Amino acid sequence: MTTTLIDRIGLLYTGDPEREELADAALVVEDGLVAWTGPAAQAPDADRRVDAGGRAVIPGFVDSHAHLVFAGDRTAEFQARMSGEPYTGGGIRTTVAATRGASDAELAARASGLVREMLAQGTTTVEIKSGYGLSVEDERRSLEIASGLTQETTFLGAHVVPAGTDADSYVRLVAGDMLRACAPHARWVDVFCERGAFDGDQTREILTAGLNTGLGARVHANQLTEGPGVRIACELGAASADHCTHLTDADVDALASSGTVATLLPGAEFSTRSPYPDARRLIDAGATVALATDCNPGSSYTSSMAFCVALAVREMRMTPLEAVRAATYGGARALRRTDVGWLKAGARADLVVLDAPSYVHLAYRPGVPLVHQVFRAGLLLEEDAQNPSSVVVL
Ligand SMILES: [Zn+2]
Repeated sequence: MTTTLIDRIGLLYTGDPEREELADAALVVEDGLVAWTGPAAQAPDADRRVDAGGRAVIPGFVDSHAHLVFAGDRTAEFQARMSGEPYTGGGIRTTVAATRGASDAELAARASGLVREMLAQGTTTVEIKSGYGLSVEDERRSLEIASGLTQETTFLGAHVVPAGTDADSYVRLVAGDMLRACAPHARWVDVFCERGAFDGDQTREILTAGLNTGLGARVHANQLTEGPGVRIACELGAASADHCTHLTDADVDALASSGTVATLLPGAEFSTRSPYPDARRLIDAGATVALATDCNPGSSYTSSMAFCVALAVREMRMTPLEAVRAATYGGARALRRTDVGWLKAGARADLVVLDAPSYVHLAYRPGVPLVHQVFRAGLLLEEDAQNPSSVVVL
């Protein structure tokens, strides 16, 4: 049993609503868990001491929405869109063709590369969806690859209807054989509920089948237009309704009065040059808000939670505190996790030492690499990487 004291923390953002911020703080890690937080002057002894040198410390980011199992490249689509063409979601099929043609090893190498890229930027928990296979075997292997990288795996067979397939028979396949093949590798089931993807009835059918198999539900809802996605998510007790860009008053009320987290993905609006979701309206109504990257090759190819925090502050009128809370505590709520996303005694010691005196710098200094050190379960990333038995499981 070894203990580590992280001392001389200029500002500690704990994420614990009972004591969210602490100046001149220290934190003790024991066996990979947070054992103590408090004023540096009262810090107990420990086996080793890490001097934070007055820097800020935050919980590791919890990126609760990412699509990392894919092949191919959509630079040209982005370039075209930035030249004035609208985003319609049709480009997903381009990635599906490339993904189906890639080997397991190629898919795993790309996904683990992105997870390492995220880790280096302070993301210590990430959710990974399937959704670029869209056949029983390609969805199954996507989830098998994802489950080697994270426990937060999501079956998104209902991403789009694959080309040349009838929508009703595809929904039956997703809710039947595909779900049965994928469920052993998945914790969640998700549906892209949107005009051009899946309508309300189809969404309900697939989510209900997933829930009956023991998976939790999450929904891509109200991204491009108003629609039934958010209401279905709240009705079915989904952990999260993701995007939430086009909401009616009834949608906002439903989110505020249910346990469903509103997960906002400003990287998608940034990369598709679209209007941002109204975070203020959701927060002021009392909804729990999460921020995530939506990292995917089409509509948001960023792996940076810090970038999303900066966008949320500048473009969505979230305060820096609300944004960092949404990127840590909010993400954990969206995954129904209480062991990550905050630094209270008993939580996993996943934390980021920022090269800045305050988390505010994440938005104040956008685009600047501010990550000084990342600890995962109490181990510095570099120490973790030297452990040959360590696989990237977040
Ligand atoms: Zn998504």
